[in-house]
Amino acid sequence: MKTTDSKKTTAPKQAAKKSGVIKPKSDAASGLTELFEDGLKDIYWAEKALTKALPTMAKNATSADLIEALNSHLTETEEHVARLEKVFELIGKKATAKKCDAMSGLIEEGKGIIEETEVGVVRDAGIIAASQKIEHYEIATYGTLRQFAETLGLSEAADLLEQTLEEEKEADKKLTIVAVDAINVEAAEAD
Ligand code: ZN
Ligand code: FE
Ligand code: FE
Repeated sequence: MKTTDSKKTTAPKQAAKKSGVIKPKSDAASGLTELFEDGLKDIYWAEKALTKALPTMAKNATSADLIEALNSHLTETEEHVARLEKVFELIGKKATAKKCDAMSGLIEEGKGIIEETEVGVVRDAGIIAASQKIEHYEIATYGTLRQFAETLGLSEAADLLEQTLEEEKEADKKLTIVAVDAINVEAAEAD
């Protein structure tokens, strides 16, 4: 039992030959630093994409509270982009965006929800649902990246990522309040 386990962990090349194990690309990360940098590029793309997607969501929202929540999060999102640029600077790397397939999909899904809802409270409820999926993806991402930075001894970078993490959590809470306070009840009444 013990020998099997140690063989598995000490022989990655052998493990890669097993069926179902995806072959790493030639530029695959070999350590946590590279994995951290790849994660930064991914969320940098995602945040930039959000600065374009949030105005569309706000334009399609009806509730004043929801519009305010989306617009104030747009301002924060622009800060998140700038903060990531600072993190790249801290680690001596050029800020580079690499397409985040997850955020691309979440934004697409948001557009789909908008198309499939009537303007008003029902569309508002849909926009909140889509936005919260986005916030949760960001919360998971920043939680991971902050931890990676801490493990790597990059405390300044960790602090910046923590600040953004807290703002994402606050944005998510705010959306819950908007939903619970008015929109969901009204949307249910529209049934
Ligand atoms: Zn953000
Ligand atoms: Fe991603
Ligand atoms: Fe966000």
